[in-house]
Amino acid sequence: VPFDGNPIAPETERFLKETHRLLIGGQWVEGSGELETRDPATGLVLARFQTGGAAEVDRAVKAARAAFEGPWGRMTVAERTALLHKLARVMDANATLLTELDVIDNGMPRFIAGLTTANCVEMIDYYAGAVMRIEGTIIAPPRHIAAETEALTYTLREPVGVAGQIVPWNVPLSTAILKLAPALAAGCTVVMKPSEETPLSALALGGMILEAGIPAGVVNIVNGLGAEAGQALAEHPGVDKISFTGSTATGKRIIQAALGNLKKVSLELGGKSPVVVMPDADLALAVPGVAMATFFLQGQNCMAGTRIFAHAAIHDALMEGVTAFCKVMTLGHGLDPATTQGPMISDGHAAKVMGYIERAKADGVTLVVGGEKLDRPGNFIQPTVFSGCDNAMPLMREEIFGPVMAVQKFESDDLDAIAALANDTPYGLSGSVWTRDLSTAHRLVKRIRAGHVSINCHGAVGTNIPFGGYGQSGWGREFGQEGLDAYLETKAVTARL
Ligand code: NAD
Repeated sequence: VPFDGNPIAPETERFLKETHRLLIGGQWVEGSGELETRDPATGLVLARFQTGGAAEVDRAVKAARAAFEGPWGRMTVAERTALLHKLARVMDANATLLTELDVIDNGMPRFIAGLTTANCVEMIDYYAGAVMRIEGTIIAPPRHIAAETEALTYTLREPVGVAGQIVPWNVPLSTAILKLAPALAAGCTVVMKPSEETPLSALALGGMILEAGIPAGVVNIVNGLGAEAGQALAEHPGVDKISFTGSTATGKRIIQAALGNLKKVSLELGGKSPVVVMPDADLALAVPGVAMATFFLQGQNCMAGTRIFAHAAIHDALMEGVTAFCKVMTLGHGLDPATTQGPMISDGHAAKVMGYIERAKADGVTLVVGGEKLDRPGNFIQPTVFSGCDNAMPLMREEIFGPVMAVQKFESDDLDAIAALANDTPYGLSGSVWTRDLSTAHRLVKRIRAGHVSINCHGAVGTNIPFGGYGQSGWGREFGQEGLDAYLETKAVTARL
């Protein structure tokens, strides 16, 4: 039974029946290959979609270059702002389609997809508003010129050029938009490569970009495999900047591929984020907060707080609460309103996650709750908690990207020692601190090496809040002003007057 018997909107049904091609130069064009995408909650094929390789990427880059040097580059900021706002309105009018596509293609619960669609609309409006605030500065001219004559030095902020954007599967529409919106606001043109696991919402977005009247070639979408379309995009000498979100291992390949023309590189990579629960934490907040730090998006979340450091004074109470929370989580199809946790994206990924669980069991790590894959179609893994962990274990070191929490008890009240535990990881994307003591909270936050740290909440990202990683979690920042700066060059100009 499709979607486990849950209804989809007529527009989603119609979209799934369409032929899904590549968007190049404002046209839907034939690809050179074809793949299928499945509903991870049922394993049933949702749609087939065409894919591209090096040749299609090359065409798309040329189309993006022509648009950059042509209509998009020549447009006034007022026109660019208006077109971005128009895109936001078209997306808003199609919010049900965008939301349902991410639910059925990725497996995430509908309430999460609904929120991410709304955030995407907000993000386009936010960056549309930022277009008119792209500003340079006036600076004192260099001494050797100013000594001879009057002079003026100022800076211009100019678009980087053609941006290649490579998107993962875990929050497909959201990651596409958080790259697309600042790039377009900056005046760049784009070739986007969505994930082969979740191509659908980006394809629907392509239609909306055309409907909004954004000129041909400004946004090109080439679906395909990472090793083919993705690699070709990262290597292409006509691409000025590559913005990549995905695993740390692939991020390292992107850097190598980008070396040829030294294109600018932004990387949003993996994480293994610490969650520190102090003895005075408000457990009414911390229990659901810590559980959702790990289990939000079934753990397929770069910010997931999967290393829990629980002070001995509250460790047992926290475990009891989190266990109860896990037992009431409802695993099911994302379209079912009762669902709070969806499936793993694919058979292969579920096998990887279960590998970590089985290994931990075999190593004698204490299993507090969960630990099984459900005996039903789709890849549903129970929310799983292991206690008695330490930083040497694979459970604590490696990004599992599934619903697996590893808990370590600590006794110390020394903030440096606690921070040393939290920082014992190659990653540095996110983290959280749970305490009623404001002084402890801020002192600990200062000691944690991560790009985004929350107090008494976790992963509280937002359109206007810079986001990115320390260490092997990435290079650069997305969201907010820094997200826009990532698509701008600075040109300094000096004039003898
Ligand atoms: P992935 O690295 O396997 O793939 C990401 C994208 O890169 C896909 O589009 C894929 O096709 C493409 N790709 C793969 N090999 C490539 C290559 N050689 N050259 C160019 N492109 C290539 O990651 P994934 O499994 O799709 O996503 C999960 C990972 O993404 C996790 O590690 C997660 O932490 C990370 N992630 C990070 C953030 C963040 O903001 N830091 C956000 C979401 C996900």
